[in-house]
Amino acid sequence: MLCIWYIEVMDKKPEFIGRKYPEGLIKRSQDTMKEWRKDALEPFEGEIEKTADDLLMIGTVNDLITEELKKLGFEKESKITPEQIHLMPREVFIKKFPNNVNSKGLFQSTDQTIYINKGEADIRALMISAILHESIHLNSSDKYYRDPEGGISDARVGYRLNSLWKEAKNQNKLKGFNEFMVEFTVNRILERNARLLEERFGITEKDIEGTIYGVGFHPARVKIVETIVKKVAEYRNIDQGKVITDFERGQFSNTILALKDIDIVFGQGSIRILGFLDSFKNREHNAKIEKMIELYFVTEDLGERKKIKEEILSFAD
Ligand SMILES: [Zn+2]
Repeated sequence: MLCIWYIEVMDKKPEFIGRKYPEGLIKRSQDTMKEWRKDALEPFEGEIEKTADDLLMIGTVNDLITEELKKLGFEKESKITPEQIHLMPREVFIKKFPNNVNSKGLFQSTDQTIYINKGEADIRALMISAILHESIHLNSSDKYYRDPEGGISDARVGYRLNSLWKEAKNQNKLKGFNEFMVEFTVNRILERNARLLEERFGITEKDIEGTIYGVGFHPARVKIVETIVKKVAEYRNIDQGKVITDFERGQFSNTILALKDIDIVFGQGSIRILGFLDSFKNREHNAKIEKMIELYFVTEDLGERKKIKEEILSFAD
């Protein structure tokens, strides 16, 4: 058993982008990341030991994501091992991640590790939604960047882009949209498997309604994505369901071409505008730009939209 998962986790070769790398550097960077991944499998002090029920939940999450990937047309399987997921009491989580005290979970791309805050994910419905959420990040398409000083960071996870080789005030482009799509996928998986969840974990349909979804799903973001989906569907003359499924698929695809129609329908530069959602470190900046982005997408008048675009760009750049 041990050998099988060991090989699977270690076989994944990260892709590097962002600059021309000297010969051998990519291979050395991949080896470094392999070591990080191996080290991150070790339990650490204060971690909660997983129960049989927790292990069943992790196995179920893998199965459900694999099934969803298959529905989207992918061959790949979710193969997250229990050792990649660390369950933590609130105090331990807060100590390790002081900037994420209210998070249910966190995914670290460079070592492919998931941390779950049991203080927040304290009931089964919240626990499975948290593990699903972080596991979708882990299964998303990813690319990395090694800076000349030797640091390695992610350049892409799902739709979220970090162009660290460019100087920019707001890295984490498309972060807000990415979080929305992750929550959308969690929601879709839970709804599709309601009966199984009830039988296996006693999670009822009422448990998986609304409140378990995070900030990714709050009203302004729902409005932004709904507006985009509606207009793109009209333009392509297809069902809105097909458009949102194409967006869902894009998280796991090698390119983010699934978004290209947004620029065609709303005008050049619209993907860039969407990209500013939740892209700042500062919370107030994010709240302010979210309102502007909502206004941009719901405004029908082209002249007006152009004016809003100017305002957004001068605020963001
Ligand atoms: Zn997330």
